[in-house]
Amino acid sequence: MLLEGGAIAEGATGRSGGFLSSSLTHGVANGISRFPAEMPLLERLGRQNFDRTVVGLGQLEIDCDLELSGDLAVALEPHEESWLAQEAEQLSDLGHDVALLDRGSVRAELDSPTYRAALWQRSGAGILDPAKLAWGLARAAESLGVRVHEGSRVSRLRKARGTIELWTAGGSLVAQQALCATGAFRSPLATVRRRIVPVWDYVLMTEPLTAAQRSALGWERRQGVSDSANRFHYYRLTAGDRILWGGYDAIYHYGNGMGAEREQREATFARLAQHFFRTFPQLEDIRFTHRWGGPIDTCSRFFAFYGLSHGGRVAYAAGHTGLGIGASRFGARVALDLLAGRETEATRSRLARTRPVPFPPEPLRWTVIQATRRALARADRRQGRRGPWLRLLDRLGLGYDS
Ligand SMILES: Cc1cc2nc3c(=O)[nH]c(=O)nc-3n(C[C@H](O)[C@H](O)[C@H](O)COP(=O)(O)OP(=O)(O)OC[C@H]3O[C@@H](n4cnc5c(N)ncnc54)[C@H](O)[C@@H]3O)c2cc1C
Repeated sequence: MLLEGGAIAEGATGRSGGFLSSSLTHGVANGISRFPAEMPLLERLGRQNFDRTVVGLGQLEIDCDLELSGDLAVALEPHEESWLAQEAEQLSDLGHDVALLDRGSVRAELDSPTYRAALWQRSGAGILDPAKLAWGLARAAESLGVRVHEGSRVSRLRKARGTIELWTAGGSLVAQQALCATGAFRSPLATVRRRIVPVWDYVLMTEPLTAAQRSALGWERRQGVSDSANRFHYYRLTAGDRILWGGYDAIYHYGNGMGAEREQREATFARLAQHFFRTFPQLEDIRFTHRWGGPIDTCSRFFAFYGLSHGGRVAYAAGHTGLGIGASRFGARVALDLLAGRETEATRSRLARTRPVPFPPEPLRWTVIQATRRALARADRRQGRRGPWLRLLDRLGLGYDS
C-alpha cells in the first residue's frame, strides 16, 4: 500500500528537471571527496542502477520520453575549464565515455556566445519527463496489486506489538513493515528530520521552439546541459521542443519552510529569464509559458542516506539533494534490502552504512545556510577561490562543490 500525502508527481520528482544520472553521489567530485576508495564500487552500482532503470521502464511500458542523450557541462569562466578537465579525467578513470570540447566544438553542438569549453558525458546520463515517470510508476505499481491512497499524509509512526501503526488524518493502519521516502517534506522519523533541509529551486519553461529557433541553436543531439559555477543553471529540450531552464538561486526558508505559496518567486524568475537571454541571445523573441518551484531534499553530504528505525520495521531513504531521479530507485532497493535483512554489496557499502552530519536547530540552521549561500556566490565572483567559511566546511567534510 502506498500512502501519498499529496498527489502522485506533485512532490520534487514531478517538478524536477528530469535529468537522469547514474551518479549516486551527486557527481564524481563530491563522491571522491567523501568516499575515494569506494568510488569504483559506487560508480559500478550507479551504472547498474541506471541500466536497470532504462530496462525497467521498457518492461513496465512507462512512456516518459526518455532520451539517452548524455550531458554537457559547459564552462563560462576560464577557471571552470580546468575543473572540467579534472572531472573528465575522474569520469574516464571510472569507465565513463567522455570528451572535452573546445569553444568551437561546444558551439557546434549548442550555440551560445557564453561558452568557452565543455565536458560531454555520453554514458550514464539522459533526460526524461519526470511527471510522466511518476504517473507511470504509480500505474505500474497498481497493476501489480499495490493500492495507492493519495491525500494520506502519515503524521506518526508507532511500534505496537510487533507491528507498525501509521497514523493519517483520516485514520490509522497496521503494517508489518514500512518504507519512508518523504523527500524534502517533514518526515515522521526524527533521525531524517534532523538531516534534511528543503531548499527551493525554480524553473522556467519556454513555448515550443520554431524550426528557425531550433536551427539557430543547433542542439541536434539534445544533451542535458548545466553550467559549472557553484550557482549553476541546468537546461534541456523537452519532447515537444520547449526549453526547460532552471537552477541558480537556491532558497532556504526559515524553519524548513514549505507550502504552495513558495512555488512562485518573482525575483528568481526575473533573474532566470535574464540569464536565459544572455545565454541564448538568438532567442530574444521567445516567451516563457510555465514557471514553478519545488523543494530539494538537501542533506549535508549532498547525496542520500539510508537506515532502519523502530526496531528494524521501518526503513528510510532520504537526502538525494538535487540528483534523485535515478538515485532514488537505488535508495528504494537499499531500503527494501535493509527491511528484508538482506546483505548486498550496496548495503555493505560505506554509502549505506554512514549518515550525514545533522543540521543544527534554528536559528543557527538559517544562519549557517545563509552564510554558505553567500560564500558560494562570493567564490563564483572570485574565479572559484573558496574563502575561509567554505574552506572550514571542506575541512569538516561538509563542503559542496557543484
Ligand atoms: C526544481 C527541481 C529540479 C530538480 N531537478 C532534478 C533533475 O533534473 N534530476 C534529478 O535527478 N533530480 C532533480 N531534482 C531532485 C529530485 O527531484 C529529488 O531528489 C527526487 O525527486 C526525490 O525523490 P523522492 O521520491 O525521494 O521525493 P519526492 O518526489 O518529493 O516524493 C516524496 C513524496 O512523499 C510524499 N510525502 C512526504 N511526506 C509524506 C508523509 N508524511 N506521508 C505520506 N506522503 C508523504 C510527498 O507528498 C511526495 O509526493 C530536482 C528537484 C527540484 C525541486
